[in-house]
Amino acid sequence: MRVAVIGCTHAGTAAIVNTAKLYPEAEITVYERNDNISFLSCGIALYVGGVVKDPQGLFYSSPEQLAELGVETKMLHEVTYVDTDRKQLTARRLQTGEEFTDRFDKLIVTTGSWPVVPQFPGIELDNIILSKNFNHSNLIIEKGKEAQNIVVVGAGYIGIELVEAFQMNGKSVTLIDAEERILSKYLDEEYTDVIENTLRDRGISLALGEKVTRFEGEEGKVRAVVTDHGRYAADVVILCIGFKPNTELLKGQVDMLDNGAILVDEYMRTSKRDVFAAGDSCAVYYNPLKSHAYIPLATNAVRMGTLAARNLVSPTVKYLGTQGTSGIKIYENNIAATGLTEIAAKEAGLEAESVLVTDSYRPEFMPSHEKVTLKLVYEQGTRRILGAQIMSKVDLTQSINTISVCIQNDMKMEELAFVDFFFQPHFNKPWNFLNSAGLQVLPEVPAQEIVHV
Ligand SMILES: Cc1cc2nc3c(=O)[nH]c(=O)nc-3n(C[C@H](O)[C@H](O)[C@H](O)COP(=O)(O)OP(=O)(O)OC[C@H]3O[C@@H](n4cnc5c(N)ncnc54)[C@H](O)[C@@H]3O)c2cc1C
Repeated sequence: MRVAVIGCTHAGTAAIVNTAKLYPEAEITVYERNDNISFLSCGIALYVGGVVKDPQGLFYSSPEQLAELGVETKMLHEVTYVDTDRKQLTARRLQTGEEFTDRFDKLIVTTGSWPVVPQFPGIELDNIILSKNFNHSNLIIEKGKEAQNIVVVGAGYIGIELVEAFQMNGKSVTLIDAEERILSKYLDEEYTDVIENTLRDRGISLALGEKVTRFEGEEGKVRAVVTDHGRYAADVVILCIGFKPNTELLKGQVDMLDNGAILVDEYMRTSKRDVFAAGDSCAVYYNPLKSHAYIPLATNAVRMGTLAARNLVSPTVKYLGTQGTSGIKIYENNIAATGLTEIAAKEAGLEAESVLVTDSYRPEFMPSHEKVTLKLVYEQGTRRILGAQIMSKVDLTQSINTISVCIQNDMKMEELAFVDFFFQPHFNKPWNFLNSAGLQVLPEVPAQEIVHV
């Protein structure tokens, strides 16, 4: 069995390693256009901020390691054409420009995503940088050293992590977003208000509800970002507006969402026989809305890559879908979220209700006890849990993984109220705060007629 894999970051590496282990007789070739594989982009801000000192720690595989599994890794090779009917692909050696064709019995598409780059006037200026791969992270560090004024466009997770890292490096930092709130896809106002204040207290300037209109430069280098409301001095601009699936190769050959995300079934099969896909190149099944959505995350990528390998020969293990569970640490705040925010649920047409629990996470008699803020979002009629958010100065983020399981299993608020969680004063209270959220919204007991005996 000849297996071709296109792209070797998280989904690709997971697919390759598992394919090699499960089918020792398979001839596996992976094509990767970068000069490295398995880069953990989640480490970029930590590397910029100096938390991660050695960038080599941000890689967990190499062509040599894959070779030990019998895999041929073709680095600096770009696949330029795929014919899924004839089971052939064309690849270009980037160092020489030479092209050749290869054939496959099974194809795994793990081409991932690429940052959205709006074509604003001035976008071609130097020092406007993306934040996706290892080369970007080196560029951000190199350019950031000289810069005093740094502007980050896009207040999602990546943008927030970068402004924190630059502020800690002593830079003057501005964060611009067209939305009125930071992290608006992940968190409701109760959380974003607190985090925005934290950022402002550290001296980060927030330009929210502002749309970038152009970049201004001098001698080919960016000098300012202009929005519909203001102008911000910039020696370096980092664009983190979002990602789009990198799937041009497969266009017209397999079913996709409108944005180009490949649709796969629960076994990672595309609409074309023997063509599998995984990771950021794909849509995922989003359990809170019971429909497909584009949620590019490393967690989805490693799961889907592993399943593509498992199901390559016959459908064996099903994908469970996702809640888009995510976490972030912003200064001293440990934050995590899963499923829908209240706003997103309402925008999706659901009749969403919410409950907010604010409490000490463990008994007040303990020497220290921090506040936890937990929000649960649920559907009014069915009482199905739709989403949750948590924030505390202690790390309680794992409880959001618990809620992720609840959403995946369609649990109701009253079931959450009585789930068996342990109690020990070092860690929590007799009623775990997750139970407390369910208890606050128990359904009313139906009125009974008093029976006289
Ligand atoms: C700064 C940053 C921080 C992040 N932090 C987190 C986090 O904390 N948690 C989390 O879950 N996720 C995080 N993510 C998201 C996560 O990195 C992605 O979801 C993940 O990288 C997706 O993996 P992938 O293998 O599907 O795709 P990609 O990482 O996009 O990799 C695709 C690979 O395919 C190669 N390729 C594409 N086309 C071709 C071609 N035609 N020929 C040859 N090779 C090709 C590319 O060069 C690339 O190496 C972060 C992302 C960024 C950018």
